[in-house]
Amino acid sequence: MAPPLLTALDSIGHVHLVVGSNPLASARCSKSIEVGAKPKVIAPADADFHYVLAKRIEDGDVEWIKKNFEDAHLSTLGRVEVDNVVDAVFVTANGKNAESTHISSLCRRMRVPVNVVDAPNLCTFTLLSTHSDGPLQIGITTSGKGCKLASRIRREISSSLPPNFGTAVERLGVVRRRIWEEDHRIYETEEQATEVEDDDATAQRPSFNRLVSETDHNAAKTRRMRWLSQICEYWPLRRLASITDADIDTILQSYTAPSDLVPPPLDAPHLDTRSRPKPMIILAGSGPGDPSLLTMATHRAIQMASVILADKLVPAPVLDLIPRRTLVHIARKFPGNADAAQAELLSLGLEALQKGHTVLRLKQGDPYIYGRGAEEYSFFREKGYVATVLPGITSALSAPLFAAIPPTHRSVADQVLICTGTGRRGAAPDPPTYIPTQTVVFLMALHRLSSLVNALTGTGPTMESCESESKPKPWPRETPCAVVERASCPDQRVIRSTLQHVCTAVEEEGSRPPGLLIVGWSCEVLVEMKGRGRWLVEEGFAGFEVLDSGPDGVAGLVKGKNVDSPSRNE
Ligand code: SAH
Repeated sequence: MAPPLLTALDSIGHVHLVVGSNPLASARCSKSIEVGAKPKVIAPADADFHYVLAKRIEDGDVEWIKKNFEDAHLSTLGRVEVDNVVDAVFVTANGKNAESTHISSLCRRMRVPVNVVDAPNLCTFTLLSTHSDGPLQIGITTSGKGCKLASRIRREISSSLPPNFGTAVERLGVVRRRIWEEDHRIYETEEQATEVEDDDATAQRPSFNRLVSETDHNAAKTRRMRWLSQICEYWPLRRLASITDADIDTILQSYTAPSDLVPPPLDAPHLDTRSRPKPMIILAGSGPGDPSLLTMATHRAIQMASVILADKLVPAPVLDLIPRRTLVHIARKFPGNADAAQAELLSLGLEALQKGHTVLRLKQGDPYIYGRGAEEYSFFREKGYVATVLPGITSALSAPLFAAIPPTHRSVADQVLICTGTGRRGAAPDPPTYIPTQTVVFLMALHRLSSLVNALTGTGPTMESCESESKPKPWPRETPCAVVERASCPDQRVIRSTLQHVCTAVEEEGSRPPGLLIVGWSCEVLVEMKGRGRWLVEEGFAGFEVLDSGPDGVAGLVKGKNVDSPSRNE
């Protein structure tokens, strides 16, 4: 069965017809009042009322129509501006009987949404189990499979949020509005911004960060708005929840131009300033995502550091391991600001070292694989601080594993190449030559996937510009490949395809950064693609549940989807 369309319905001033007077009718009326609607109860003059409902009627919050239900009620008790048709009907007693069946079919005919207790077939809508915290609303439905379960899921989800998260949502909404208004003013006088830049850290266009309304479109292109999108995406919820008005003022003031970037003082009153006699700098990798992929050494460094300077891509569950007392700064890397953000981190690190702190520079994956790790090592060494470098599990080699792709496999692949998909100034780099027994992993490659794939298959301008003698051998278009996104995170996604179809696949499925591309015949060692369509999408991370759930444990299920190709685009 197709899932229902979940919506948030503005119900202010709507007329809700509640048929019945029992405790459920009372609950429905309360809910209606809560959302600004006007409940009208239909019940005969001699009906027994739930005491809360009786009180609401007495107080004038609920109107009582002292009659049995009549068809005409649907078209006479509603708002004048909608020709007196009621906005929704709740039948609260008796489930499926002749009267409720009649009301339901009448409502359907009149396009009035109707809900009948205990009779899913008679409902055109159901209510969600909701968690409400200011502007933050969370609704759960199990599509009628169990309301107790829905409420348990709601409780679990809401308890995983930091306390009073609604306040943070409110505050971030205000910031967003403020930035939008200011940027809009600037835009009225300035030229339109140029094309949206790519994200330096993921080398992807984070489509979700551009999920803004049409009118916001121009503003979203501006730096501060993008910064806000990025912190909403990458900061741990706990950090977002504790965002203060002072934080916001600093952000708004410091982002008028990249050159204005002023690092927040390390000894600001709310920050921990425990000095240590001997400053230390540790450069460590945090792995691809799941916190259990941290090394014990990095975990220990997280516990002992007094200042942590983290990359934007360091996964939230890893940041959650940081003790509360520790000062944390997350890189303010957003498109177009990579160098300024990097300089800011380095100067914060230096400042902290000079104050005697133990500084942990926490980087995503492995610090020396496209992480500017060695640059940082050199920077601190020049200033007299020699970093201890701790390795991390790189996404380049772990993402293939989590996608069931062995980068080497006897008689299939005997070498692995790790490449960037983004060359100097964002152009596609020269492609590696075709070696049938090689697995190539491209990082930072998904934002300009088509130029990379064209270059690889010898159909793009990069190939044409190559000198003929150094011209790499093109990769066959039927070479299997896979896009692995957010490897080891709960929302991991794998798209298996071939060089021929992978661009269409990514275009149609959208992007979920960070992600990488794996190319080579090793992609088919464990997963057969033949006859399974142009591409195959697998959602979710099976994780290490098997380790948690004892000898009988079964790793989490990975949901799959085949995209078939009746007409192959040859
Ligand atoms: N030092 C990191 C790489 C930094 S470059 C490491 O060793 O993993 C950033 C790129 O890494 C992203 O553009 C993406 O291609 C890749 N990446 C990082 N984390 C990833 C993940 N969890 N899943 C897939 N790709 C990831």
